[in-house]
Amino acid sequence: MITFAAKSDNQQIMSEKKRITVAHGDGIGPEIMDATLRIMKAAEVDVEYDVIEIGEKVYKAGHKSGISPESWDILRGNPYFLKAPITTPQGGGYKSLNVTIRKSLGLYSNVRPFRAYPPYVPSHFPHMDVVIVRENEEDLYAGIEHQQTSEVVQTLKLISEPGSEKIIRYAFEYAKAYGRKKVTCMTKDNIMKHTDGLFHQTFDKISKEYPEIAADHWIIDIGSAVVAARPESLDVVVTLNLYGDVISDIAAEVAGSVGMAGSSNIGMQHSMFEAIHGSAPDIAGQNLANPSGLLNGATMMLVQMGMADKAELIQNAWLRTLEDGIHTGDIYQSQRSKERVGTKEFADAVIDRLGQRPTKLKEVRYNEDVKIEVKVDEKPPKKKELVGVDVFIDWRGENRDPDVIGDRLLNRASTDRLKLKLISNRGVLVYPGGLPETFKTDHWRCRFVNTNGEILNNSDVIDLLNSVQAEGFDFIKTEHLYHFDGERGYSLSQGE
Ligand code: NAD
Repeated sequence: MITFAAKSDNQQIMSEKKRITVAHGDGIGPEIMDATLRIMKAAEVDVEYDVIEIGEKVYKAGHKSGISPESWDILRGNPYFLKAPITTPQGGGYKSLNVTIRKSLGLYSNVRPFRAYPPYVPSHFPHMDVVIVRENEEDLYAGIEHQQTSEVVQTLKLISEPGSEKIIRYAFEYAKAYGRKKVTCMTKDNIMKHTDGLFHQTFDKISKEYPEIAADHWIIDIGSAVVAARPESLDVVVTLNLYGDVISDIAAEVAGSVGMAGSSNIGMQHSMFEAIHGSAPDIAGQNLANPSGLLNGATMMLVQMGMADKAELIQNAWLRTLEDGIHTGDIYQSQRSKERVGTKEFADAVIDRLGQRPTKLKEVRYNEDVKIEVKVDEKPPKKKELVGVDVFIDWRGENRDPDVIGDRLLNRASTDRLKLKLISNRGVLVYPGGLPETFKTDHWRCRFVNTNGEILNNSDVIDLLNSVQAEGFDFIKTEHLYHFDGERGYSLSQGE
C-alpha cells in the first residue's frame, strides 16, 4: 500500500521551533515577501527562516534549473516553503523552476481558493467561493517534447491511475474537512478518451465513497465558461494540471484581482505556499504590488503547520483592512476605497489591525484539528497483451499519396505476424479509403495488427521494423498496441 499523507504538521520532527524555507523571488517578489514576513513577525508567528536564492539571478549564474544544489538541500531539509513569484527566462533551455519543485518534491495537490470580497473588492460575483484543486505533477507538464519530422512536433500527455486517484481523493477529503457540499470534475474526455477518460472514470469511482458530497462533471470548455460566467454555482473543482492552471487565472480575475489569491502545493513530506500570480515585472520596485496573494498563501501555510490561531489572527486583520477601505491600486475604487496605499503601507495597515475582526465580511475560523489524509492502495498489475504496433513514418514521396505508402507497406513490408491495417495522418484515417481533401503532413501513423488474434511479442515488432526499413521507409517511433485485462488500451483513428 502506498500512503500519501497530506497533512504534514505531525511529520516534522518536533524539535524546537518549526523552520520554513523562504525565497524572495524576482520582480515584485521581494516587496510582497517583505510585507508578508513583517505581518507574520508582528503576529508573533514563532518560526525560523532559512532564506534561499532562486529565480532569475540563479538562472543567469548558470544554473539552468533556477536553483543551486545548496538551496535544494535546504529546501529538502524543511517541510514548509514560502515562495515569492519568480521570473522564468524565455527560451534558452530554461526549465520552469515552479514545475521542477512541484514535481521533484512530490507536491501533487495545488489548492487554490478564490473568494469575492464584496463590496470592498469589485466582483460581478459577490457570492463566489470556489476552491480549485489542480493536479500538480502530471499531464502536459511532463514537458516531454520531440520534433519527429520536418513538419511535426509532439508533446506527451501522461496521466497515471495513482496520480488521478491521489488528487481526486484529496479533493473529496478537502471538501469533507472544510464542510464543502460539492466536487466538480473537469476534463476533455469526449476527445481524450484514454487520458482524460481515466481521470473522469477515477472520479466517478471515488465519488461513490463520499455519498454526502455531491459530484458532477463538466467538459472543460463549458466548465471554463461556467468559471467565468457562473462561478457561484461551483464549490470545489478538481481537474488536470493544464486545465487547472488556465481556470485558476480566470477564477482569480472574476473574483476581483489576480493579486489576491494564494495557493498551497501539498505533498507527502513537503508543501509549498505562494501567490498564484507571477513576478509582475511591470510594477516591480515601485511599492505598487498587492501583497495579499502571498499573505493568503502564508495563511494557508500556518493552518497546515498547525498554527490555526495565527492564521486566524492575520486573516481577520487582513479582512478588516479590506473592509476599512485601505486598498492597493489593483483593487482601489474611488467611491468605495478610503485610501490608496502602497505595498508597505498595506502591510502596516494589516499589522495595525492584528487582533481586530471584520464587522461586515465574514470572519474566518480555522479548525486546529483539520487533517487531510489520502491513502492510495497499490493495485495489482493488469494482464497486458500485445496485439499490434503503430509505426510512425517520416515520408513525403509521390505527392504524399496515401495509396502509395499504404500499398507498399501492406504488400511489401507487412510480415506474417503483423499486417498493415490502416494509416492515419494527424489522427485522421487516410488509408484505406481516405478523402483527397484531408491535409497530409510528413508524419504517417501506420497501424499493424495480427489478424489471426495471436498474442505478439517484441521480436514480432523488431521483425516488422526490419521489413519496413528494408522497404526504404524511415520510421521515427513506434507505439505498442496493448489490451489490458482484455480492454483496448489505445485510441482508434478519426474515421476508423
Ligand atoms: P503576472 O501575474 O506577473 O502579471 C500579470 C498582470 O497582473 C500584470 O499586469 C501585473 O502587474 C498584475 N499583477 C500581478 N500580481 C500583482 C499584484 N500582486 N498586485 C498588483 N498587480 C499584480 O504574469 P506575467 O506578466 O504573465 O508573468 C511575469 C513573470 O512571472 C513571467 O516570467 C512568468 O514566467 C512568471 N510567473 C511566475 C509564477 C510563479 O512564480 N509562481 C507564476 C506565474 C508567472
